[in-house]
Amino acid sequence: MKDRSVEQKLRGEAGELLVAGKVDYIVGFERGSLKFTTTPLITKDGNDINRLVINPFITSNLAKFLMELKGRVGIVAKGCDSRSIVSLIQDNKVIRENLVILGVPCSGIISLHKLEKLAARDSEEIRDITREDDRVIVNIGGEDRELPAAEVLFDSCLACEFPTPKEYDILLGEPRAATISQNAWKNVKKLEALPPEERWYFWEKEFSRCTRCYACRNSCPICFCQQCFVEETEPQWIASVPRWQENFIFQIIRNIHLAGRCTDCGACERACPANIPLRSLTRKMYDIVDDLYQFKAGTDKGLAPLMAHYENTDPGDFIR
Ligand code: SF4
Ligand code: SF4
Ligand code: SF4
Repeated sequence: MKDRSVEQKLRGEAGELLVAGKVDYIVGFERGSLKFTTTPLITKDGNDINRLVINPFITSNLAKFLMELKGRVGIVAKGCDSRSIVSLIQDNKVIRENLVILGVPCSGIISLHKLEKLAARDSEEIRDITREDDRVIVNIGGEDRELPAAEVLFDSCLACEFPTPKEYDILLGEPRAATISQNAWKNVKKLEALPPEERWYFWEKEFSRCTRCYACRNSCPICFCQQCFVEETEPQWIASVPRWQENFIFQIIRNIHLAGRCTDCGACERACPANIPLRSLTRKMYDIVDDLYQFKAGTDKGLAPLMAHYENTDPGDFIR
């Protein structure tokens, strides 16, 4: 991004928090080893502060690290990350008072995969990528080329309802309004339109490529069970061999476990090395929860977790 003001403000605030002893750790992003990537930076060392970056490639959901860190943490949070933090607070997994949330009003994260396809270039051939309002400027061999942002942002970002963190202590830029694009539902709608047997065949094909690496589970901030059901042996819920049927069951159960806590951050889909369109499941579940219970995960830390309470008006007689 050409505008470095958010990054500068972050470095200033994070440095002050460490020097003043207000936090034990800063959790943010630094440049990754590959072009147009970032990697999480977790540090106690003030000398690392100048490595912090904010750019359109801050893909991870850093809330993932909160449960592993002891002490007070200053954490960089985009809108969706802040919702995951709120969800963890609601589940009593993290204590709000132990956090300083450095909120980033977010303009969306660029999918390199989409961009490379649209520009018909490998990222190695691209010199620079910058974001300007609703356009993404790609510099190839010294020539600028404009691409519509709606074509190259991740689908989860095109559906983002809360780009400005709902929960923060320090806001690092001007609040941003949501600009939702129907492109975000393209894949979900395509699947919904298929007859059931074709939809089944679609997932058979997709989950045949799953190696059960668990990158999806491990990148998800709210997939936090100490022992995941897939690793239980008594009883053994699913076989450990990655056959497509078990892989699919793994994702179906994972989705049910995350209902009412998934914020559609998209981190699981981005982490999948097999490019399996996991968001077609997670977003569908997100919409079902919203339709049935008018509940959007991580938007109000004062609310009880969805699955921990009921209302007399809830659908389904079994609860009364
Ligand atoms: S979902 Fe929203 S807050 Fe999260 S990365 Fe995308 S635009 Fe930013
Ligand atoms: S990240 Fe992809 S390949 Fe790995 S377990 Fe999840 S769905 Fe399977
Ligand atoms: S299931 Fe995926 S989209 Fe939902 S919160 Fe976890 S990482 Fe984010």
